[in-house]
Amino acid sequence: MELIVDGRRLDGRGFDELRPIKIEAGILNRADGSCYLEMGGNKVVAAVYGPREVHPKHLEDPSKAIIRYRYSMASFSVEERKRPGPDRRSIEISKVSREALEPVIMKELFPRSSIDIFVEVLQADAGSRTACLNAASVALIDAGVPMKGIVTSVAVAKVEGFLVLDPMKDEDYYGEADVPFAFLIRNGKIESITLLQMDGRLTVDELKSALELAKRGAMKIYKLQRDAILKRYVGEEVIE
Ligand code: UDP
Repeated sequence: MELIVDGRRLDGRGFDELRPIKIEAGILNRADGSCYLEMGGNKVVAAVYGPREVHPKHLEDPSKAIIRYRYSMASFSVEERKRPGPDRRSIEISKVSREALEPVIMKELFPRSSIDIFVEVLQADAGSRTACLNAASVALIDAGVPMKGIVTSVAVAKVEGFLVLDPMKDEDYYGEADVPFAFLIRNGKIESITLLQMDGRLTVDELKSALELAKRGAMKIYKLQRDAILKRYVGEEVIE
C-alpha cells in the first residue's frame, strides 16, 4: 500500500501535521471532571472521579491518593467488533497511561483517597491511547485535581522511510515503526517524557528526530488543551 504520494500523506497532511483536534471540557454532569476529545478519527470521552474514598478500603495509602486509570474500547469503536471488557491490550494501555499521568498529579495532598480516571474510546483510528491521555489531562484539570503541569501525548510513525506526526490507522498498520510519546508540560515548557513506547524499528538518529517532531506536535496540542479549559472556566471571549 502506497502511503506517501508526492510528499503528502493519504489524508493530504504534511509529515509534521496533526490531524484535526477538537476538545470540550466538562461534558458530563455526574463526573467531577470530564472531557470529550477528537483527534482525527479518534473520538474519546474521559471522566474523572475524586479525590474520593477508596473502595475497596484495603487499597488505600495513608501517605497519598491512589490513581486508577481504565482505558476501554466500545465494541463498535473499531472495524471488527471488539469483545466488550478488558483484554491484555487495554490492561497494558491502562497501566502505561496511569504511569504517564501519575508524575503530574499531586497525590500527597490526598492521603487515603483515590482519583479514578475512566476513558472510553467511542471510535478508534490509531493513537487512541494518545487521544485518551490528552482527554484525561483535561478532565483532571476540570475536576480541580491539583497538578504540577499537564500531560500531552502524540505519536510519531515511520512510513516509507519518513517520520510522520500523529499517524492514522493505515500509517500505523503498514508503517515501519510507531512511537507514542507523552510529555509533562509545566509553565508552557516540556519538562519530561512520561510515556515512550515503540514497535517496529528506528535508528538512534531517527528516534531523536521523532522526539523533536513529537515535541513540536505536543506543544500544539497543549495549546488546544489550555483553550478548552479556558473556554470552560473563563468563557470564550478571552481566547484569542
Ligand atoms: N484496533 C482495532 N481493534 C483492536 C485494537 C486496535 O481495530 O482490538 C485499531 C484501532 O484503530 C487502534 C489501532 O488499531 O487505534 C492501533 O492500535 P494500537 O494498539 O497501536 O493502539 P493505539 O494506536 O490506538 O493507541
